[in-house]
Amino acid sequence: MGAVNAFRLLMEARRNQWLKPAELEELQAKRLRAMIQHAYDNTEFYHRKFKDAGIRPEDIKTADDLKKVPFTTKSEVREHSTGSMLARGVDLRKCIVTETSGSTGIPTKVVYDSNANDFSKAINLRSHFESGLTPWSRWAIFGDPHHFQKPTWFQKFGLLSPTWISAFDPVEKQIEFLRKFKPDVLSGYTSSLYLLSSAIKEKGVEGIAPKVVISTSELLDPSTREYINSVFDVEMVDHFGCVELNRTAWECSEHTGYHIDVDAVAMEFISDGEAAAPGERGEIVYTGLYNYAMPLIRYKIEDVGVPSDEACPCGRGLPLMKLIEGRSDSFMQTPDGRTFSPIIWTLIMRQIPGVGHFKAIQERKDLIRILVVRDQAFTEATTGRIVHDVQEVMGEGMHVDVDVVEEIPKDKSGKVRCAVSKVGKAI
Ligand SMILES: [Zn+2]
Repeated sequence: MGAVNAFRLLMEARRNQWLKPAELEELQAKRLRAMIQHAYDNTEFYHRKFKDAGIRPEDIKTADDLKKVPFTTKSEVREHSTGSMLARGVDLRKCIVTETSGSTGIPTKVVYDSNANDFSKAINLRSHFESGLTPWSRWAIFGDPHHFQKPTWFQKFGLLSPTWISAFDPVEKQIEFLRKFKPDVLSGYTSSLYLLSSAIKEKGVEGIAPKVVISTSELLDPSTREYINSVFDVEMVDHFGCVELNRTAWECSEHTGYHIDVDAVAMEFISDGEAAAPGERGEIVYTGLYNYAMPLIRYKIEDVGVPSDEACPCGRGLPLMKLIEGRSDSFMQTPDGRTFSPIIWTLIMRQIPGVGHFKAIQERKDLIRILVVRDQAFTEATTGRIVHDVQEVMGEGMHVDVDVVEEIPKDKSGKVRCAVSKVGKAI
């Protein structure tokens, strides 16, 4: 496909956001019908799912009809994403295969073909442009080093080459780099931005003055937002999404909520099996509208959000959602006073063969209990490796207990969080 197609998709996405809500609904319904028909005709997985449920593609005309379709779970995607969920004729060798860590710690492979990748990048870039990124911005991103090698088509224009910073790097190293790099735009994990801000404030570091700060991948609570805003003297914005579908919603400068990318995804909020009312929390369910290589229909992301029927004063037609606040009890502090964000858990545990689902619970200042569900590669050595790898990061002073369990219990919101501290807030 290449740069021309990608650029066209970006321009189109930027225009779409200003369409009227009814026009966007129509565009979404059209893309949805095409995707449903494609998934039914070309993937074994959805053909069977539709047949078993006694529905046909023509039964799904708009996003409202999606409730007739059974959910797709994370464990189904984990099992079938590179098998029966792939569309007929897709050549895996020509695709971009990304392994997700996800907030639950379940690794899953996600397949994009080049057109889906272009589309996904266009939707992601739209939210960045609207937040203040320009083609000539000096842009630094905090993230997972395992995802740094993704192709970035916009670099073909000689523009927009983001510089990646590993969330694993010590904050001193990040500061040293950023003082030289002098970013205009700083984006990435909320916890990384927070830890950077607090180090800058504590040490009185000067010379890092981004004009735009964008958090992603973790929920942003109001106190963290206020803190980061005060350190950089900005009005930061938060973007929302997941590796499986990339950007799905984002804040504009009005901060009235998150504009949902309805031209790229159909997003439902489900409470007790029904659509949640505006203002009521619900489990987020996604249907992707552009990835023809690996369709995802009614995918339960195991995240929670709140739909909204408010119109945003900015005038964009993209509808709004609100988010649940606060995830700060996922941070942990070690006996020697270092603070770790929940992001580190997926980074540590995903490298250990045999670990399926997991959850880390800080029971005491010097004790972390890790619940682990085995996968096929689990051996007697796995437990020792977990203890070793966690202590390597958190220090010998942290005791680590590993409990092998059949299932990780869900918390109140229905989400399985990978890290919880019972010791009180570390941040
Ligand atoms: Zn807005």
